[in-house]
Amino acid sequence: MFYLDFQKANCKNCYKCLRSCPVKAIDMRSSQAKIIESRCILCGHCTKACPQNAKSVHDDTAAIEKLLEKKTVIASVAPAFLASFGTDGFEPFRAALKKLGFADAFETSEGAAAVTLEYKKLLMSGEYDNLITSACPAVNRAIQLYHHDVLKYLAPVDSPMVAHAKILRARYPKATIVFIGPCIAKKREAAESGIIAGALTFEELTGLFSKRGITLETADSAATAKPAARKTVAGDKVREVAATAEVSESSGTALAAKFYPISRGIIKSFDKFPEGYEYIAVDGVDRLSSALEDLKNIKGVFLEINACEGACVNGPCAIPHRGGIVDANVRIRNYTNRAPKDVAAGYPSLATTYKPMVAGDRVPTDDEIESVLAKTGKTRKCDELNCGACGYATCREKAWAVINGYAEVEMCVPYMREKAESLGNVIIENSPNGIIVCDEQLKISEINRRAAALIGQASPEYVFDCFDPTTAFKAAESGVGARMDKLRIDKTDKYVDVNIVPLAKENSLLIVLTDVTDKVNYDAELDKVKRDTLSVTDSVIEKQMRVAQEIASLLGETTAETKIALLKLKNAMIEDKN
Ligand code: SF4
Ligand code: SF4
Ligand code: SF4
Repeated sequence: MFYLDFQKANCKNCYKCLRSCPVKAIDMRSSQAKIIESRCILCGHCTKACPQNAKSVHDDTAAIEKLLEKKTVIASVAPAFLASFGTDGFEPFRAALKKLGFADAFETSEGAAAVTLEYKKLLMSGEYDNLITSACPAVNRAIQLYHHDVLKYLAPVDSPMVAHAKILRARYPKATIVFIGPCIAKKREAAESGIIAGALTFEELTGLFSKRGITLETADSAATAKPAARKTVAGDKVREVAATAEVSESSGTALAAKFYPISRGIIKSFDKFPEGYEYIAVDGVDRLSSALEDLKNIKGVFLEINACEGACVNGPCAIPHRGGIVDANVRIRNYTNRAPKDVAAGYPSLATTYKPMVAGDRVPTDDEIESVLAKTGKTRKCDELNCGACGYATCREKAWAVINGYAEVEMCVPYMREKAESLGNVIIENSPNGIIVCDEQLKISEINRRAAALIGQASPEYVFDCFDPTTAFKAAESGVGARMDKLRIDKTDKYVDVNIVPLAKENSLLIVLTDVTDKVNYDAELDKVKRDTLSVTDSVIEKQMRVAQEIASLLGETTAETKIALLKLKNAMIEDKN
């Protein structure tokens, strides 16, 4: 069953969710984060960390809307509602839920009060060296999966949500119970409880309110017009299903269980502290593991743990309130101090068992780990940077994930960078062309050997140390590529074609120098040969013309003389004939 996952996101090289996950329950292969159901404790920390807000929570809205149509549904509302919705007390909230179709709504703190009493009993029994609270399902799952050594300290008591559901069920045997709160982990806990029909997050509830046009202001006025004690507001529908009231509401111990959703809230709910224990609160997934590890070596600690920093008011599906966590604390304190205490009496058995669980991962051998490490060039201990860039705290943890099919070798950022750089360097250094990379002020950041040889300087600082920078400046300003053909480098007497490519993303210019010296020299030689040939041709033609003219003139004279002689001969012959 899917409770939480990520939508399609651009995860390449991000790994922020993985870094924030206390139990590394995220599969990062193919550049897309995916939650590993069997490992996940549903703390929701990763979804808060995601910069692309790629959270996808299993949505119970449609199913609960259906329930509201056909059944008599009672809501158990986590006391964190005050921080998320900013209402003045529970009544406006309750009225809004009734408009939505709930038969009635009650505060889960009633269940929490019973849970506190159970904790007190366990503390007073003297049977526990330490006792860990069981109110946070994410923490409970973390202990069941990953901290078997301290499982014996986890209070064998239902969470306040399940406790309240049991109380409501005893009171209204035919009612369907739905939990409403800021927590994703409670969705799974509700499904596994066998007593809660569904769990709505505050985010889902907000969606339902706006879909039905219900505002809490409207609810406020309704509540002002008709303030009511639980029994009268409960309404006909609930009275109809309340076959027997097994739970007494008028007697018992009054506890400040409305404090539960804030840090140290469980400890604050105690009216008296059983002796022999230090009462310590730890919140935030970052401290979860170390706190549980510490417990192995000490005795006499009552440990209140919440996976969320600041406890449930800061849950993964809480509605961020403008005053933040401080405002949330103030609201809860004010409300708890002025509202009636939560009464715990005559409730059903809240005993439960938290069994050890296994995530089912493979435990790799040392050789397997070494072989994966070697794939990213980590053959010596000092190669293991343990930088955390891949999302895992150590290189060995990441190797474990690769072997289990949760990660890819290529996620090692320093290795991939080094590889890309060395590949890039090989290509650049072996290029037949000169390559220069400079910034927009033409300050050179990279120059390969070929470019240095062409310009005759090993490490020039600026482009204008190499050649006239006018065209390069224009390219940098306009962002449009430019070229200069057959540019002469005076220092080396080389000719280069210069191709200037602006790299917008990098705010840089790539300048490629192609050596065309041979071609330029060949062209010049060819030109000279052509010019020499022309000049020779010209002189030959001139000479030929001269000869031709001489021949012509000689030929002309001879012809004239011949003509005269022949005429003379003709005339003589004519005279002879006469
Ligand atoms: S919900 Fe918590 S345990 Fe699950 S993947 Fe996210 S950070 Fe990890
Ligand atoms: S935090 Fe995780 S899910 Fe979000 S973009 Fe980064 S890698 Fe993807
Ligand atoms: S060196 Fe690589 S494998 Fe090791 S922690 Fe850093 S990114 Fe992860």
